[in-house]
Amino acid sequence: MLLGAPTAYWAFVAGLFGLCLGSFSTVVASRWPAEQSLVHPRSHCTTCDRTLGPLELVPVLSWLALRGHCRGCGEGVSWRYPAIELASGGLAAAAIAGFGPTWEGLAAALLGVALVPVVVIDLEHRLIPSIIVFPAFALAIAATIAADPARWWVPVAAALGAFAFLYVLWFLYPAGMGRGDANLALLLGAVLGASVLPALFIAFALGAALGVALLARFGARARKMAVPFGPFLAAGALVALWLGPSMIGWYAGTLG
Ligand SMILES: [Zn+2]
Repeated sequence: MLLGAPTAYWAFVAGLFGLCLGSFSTVVASRWPAEQSLVHPRSHCTTCDRTLGPLELVPVLSWLALRGHCRGCGEGVSWRYPAIELASGGLAAAAIAGFGPTWEGLAAALLGVALVPVVVIDLEHRLIPSIIVFPAFALAIAATIAADPARWWVPVAAALGAFAFLYVLWFLYPAGMGRGDANLALLLGAVLGASVLPALFIAFALGAALGVALLARFGARARKMAVPFGPFLAAGALVALWLGPSMIGWYAGTLG
C-alpha cells in the first residue's frame, strides 16, 4: 500500500476507527458473554433503559461531555466505556504510526483493536470471544499475506503452529488453558509471524511469575484459583509486535 498523505494523518484516521471499533467492543463485552444480541436493542442506559441518542454514542467525548452520567436518570456511567474506547483507538493509532499506512500496519492495528475486548471479557468471564477472534484472524492473515505474498506461508505456518501448540496444552491440561486461548494464538501467529515465538514465551513467563506470586501469597489455595491466560497472551503479543524481530535477532546472535 502506498498512500500519499503523511503517516501522522493515517495514524489519526486509524485512531478514529479504533475509537469507533472500541465503542462496538464495549457492546460485545456487555452482551456477548450473556448471549444477548449485539444489535437489538439499541444502546441504552442500563439503569433507566432510555435509548441513547446519536450524540451520546460518540466515543469518549459523549462520556466526557456528560461527565460520566446518564442524561436521563443521572446514574453514573462506568469509566470502562471510555477506557475500552481509548485503549482501542490508541493501539490502532500506534500501530499505523509505527508501521506506517501499510498492510503490516493494518494487521498490527487489527491485533490491538481485537485484543482490548478479548482481555476485558477474559478477565470478567474467563472466556475468549470467538466472535472477535475469528473475524480478526481472517482479516489479519489476509493483510499479512498481502504484505509479503511471496512468503505467504510464514503467517499461515505461525498461526497454525501457535494454535496447535496451545491446543495440545489445553488437551493435556484442560484446567490451565481454554480452547479459546488456542483460537487466540491463531490470531497472534497470523499477525506476528515468527515473532509469535517470543510472544508465547513472554506469555508463559508472565503466567509462571503470577503463579509463583499467588503460591507465595495464598499457599495451597492458589492451586484452585482460575487465572485467565488471555491477558498474558495479549501482553506477550503486544511486546513481541514491537520488539519481536530484535528479540529473535538477539537470540539468533547468542547462538553464534
Ligand atoms: Zn439512565
